[in-house]
Amino acid sequence: KKQAYIRNFAIIAHIDHGKSTLADRIMEMTNTVSQRESSEQLLDDMAVEKAHGVTVKSRTVRNYYVDPAGQEYEYNLIDTPGHVDFNYEVSRSLSATDGALLLVDATKGVQAQTVANYRLAKEAGIVLVPIINKVDNAMADVDRTMLELMDLDPSFTPDTTLKISAKTGLGVKEVLLAVRDRIPAPSGDPTKPLKALVFDSKFDPYQGVVVQARLFDGRLDYRDQLTFMAHQISTLSKEIGFFAPQAQATNVLSAGDVGYIVTGIKDPQAVQVGDTITTSDHGLLSPLPGYQTIEPMVYAGIYPRGGQYRDLKVAIEKLSLNDAAFQYVPEQSEALGTGFRGGFLGIFHLQIIRERLKSEFGLDVITTMPNATFRVWVQGEDQPRYIENPNQFPDYHLIKEVDEPYVLAKITAPNEHLNAIMRLAEGRRGELIDLATIGELLSITYRMPISEIAYDFFNELKSVSHGFATLSTSRDDYGPSDLVRLDIAIDYANVDALTFVMHRLHVQDFAQVLVTKLKDLVPRKLQSMPIQASVEGRVIARADIPPLRKVAAAGSKPSKKQQQLRRQGQKAHIDLPQAVFDAILDIN
Ligand code: GDP
Ligand code: MG
Repeated sequence: KKQAYIRNFAIIAHIDHGKSTLADRIMEMTNTVSQRESSEQLLDDMAVEKAHGVTVKSRTVRNYYVDPAGQEYEYNLIDTPGHVDFNYEVSRSLSATDGALLLVDATKGVQAQTVANYRLAKEAGIVLVPIINKVDNAMADVDRTMLELMDLDPSFTPDTTLKISAKTGLGVKEVLLAVRDRIPAPSGDPTKPLKALVFDSKFDPYQGVVVQARLFDGRLDYRDQLTFMAHQISTLSKEIGFFAPQAQATNVLSAGDVGYIVTGIKDPQAVQVGDTITTSDHGLLSPLPGYQTIEPMVYAGIYPRGGQYRDLKVAIEKLSLNDAAFQYVPEQSEALGTGFRGGFLGIFHLQIIRERLKSEFGLDVITTMPNATFRVWVQGEDQPRYIENPNQFPDYHLIKEVDEPYVLAKITAPNEHLNAIMRLAEGRRGELIDLATIGELLSITYRMPISEIAYDFFNELKSVSHGFATLSTSRDDYGPSDLVRLDIAIDYANVDALTFVMHRLHVQDFAQVLVTKLKDLVPRKLQSMPIQASVEGRVIARADIPPLRKVAAAGSKPSKKQQQLRRQGQKAHIDLPQAVFDAILDIN
């Protein structure tokens, strides 16, 4: 098929502005699916997506569009996820496209995620088609929405902006024409060596690694021997094809196409998103630039509940293949046993991983409180230490300086929430960097420590802005910070899984609330057990876990001698329920 008849595009929009509805309409009008099927929102088919109502993993659907002149086109619609933690996936899927439909709800106007998505598309250098949706709604204010769009980008004018109702289908024909006329056809060279970009990949127990790729140059035959250039891994492709929306095998994919490749590779870590695929014979000499490697924002321990370590290992390897931003290394904890330290983009990402472990692998895990990487300069060492596990945070008297990583947090929100947002950001050690207006919206940039933003900042932001603010973050430098290590001892034994590093400003309150919560959550024993929170060798908060039975209370206070024995002797045999860690997250 000639590239002139291919279009690779995405739909980007603020949540609820009608992306899924428009995708359904497009699939219907191109007869990719029947009307009955489309109502099930085929693009969102993972269990976690259903639960959270967001699209976590991108998916591609090939549609055949026949234009009024009877010419058939291949329309590859690439779906993008909608949550801030997944911006990297949006960028990734956008770089496989040549254009995007930017959809705005006429009853709401340009909103924060509209702006965030617009910026990502501009960074990817793709063509945008502005579309005002929901014009059928009585509340629609098309003129005002148009003005906001023009403010966002002067090239969005009443002439270039489509007005549609994805719900009734009004104007969707024009959308299909605009895809044909305004989104550039791919312009690769099918006679050159194969050059394909992996923009998504997942692991299938029977088929091994399955990737989605955009072919920029060359041709891919289903019997080709392929090389994945990052690790120079060669494999004979087992099957190639495309989604329409179910997987359909094909014999050939060529320049301009988007499709899947069943690689048969059984090592989930062998293939990475951003990798370049070429043929093993007469292949490319140097790969595509690929994607920026994704650096996690926060780290947390992941431990199996019960003896499922092997199962957890397998599951985690598979998940990390499917999710390029999720990283991990093995880790040991006295309290929790053998597990992993995972790296995540944020707390929501951690939650998604936890839920996927449960829904896709049937595994219950304990996750510890997440933290950023700390950079610690230690006396007598000329290189700093980068610490991802609070247990490795050095003793305070060895420390020369501690730095923590910062991000630039770009917040977009309606004017009227400015004060509330400033109060929130300043309470989180945010430093105002920039303030600009886009129509009725403000774009506010703060420099903030990751540790202040990683937990509930996004939720708080949503709450103070009544859901109207959006957040996008990018890494900034490390900066000096007065961080201290908080140790928790239960019954005189330190519990390694309950070691925290945090700003001195927060530690007293945190410790107080924590010991109070732990008192109720840690399973009781026959004797009463003290919980002590200490910083720099001083106990700053304390609570006592009462003994199991009231009758034991009389003899519950340990003698000096017993205390000493316990101090020297055993490690804490404390079962820490997940409730303990959930409670900790609540404190923050
Ligand atoms: P998404 O979050 O962007 O995928 O948004 P959805 O496609 O799920 O749509 C959000 C809501 O808006 C749903 O209740 C849709 O039925 C409704 N909706 C979408 N498009 C239109 C439209 O053109 N007109 C009206 N009145 N409602 C629409
Ligand atoms: Mg949707």
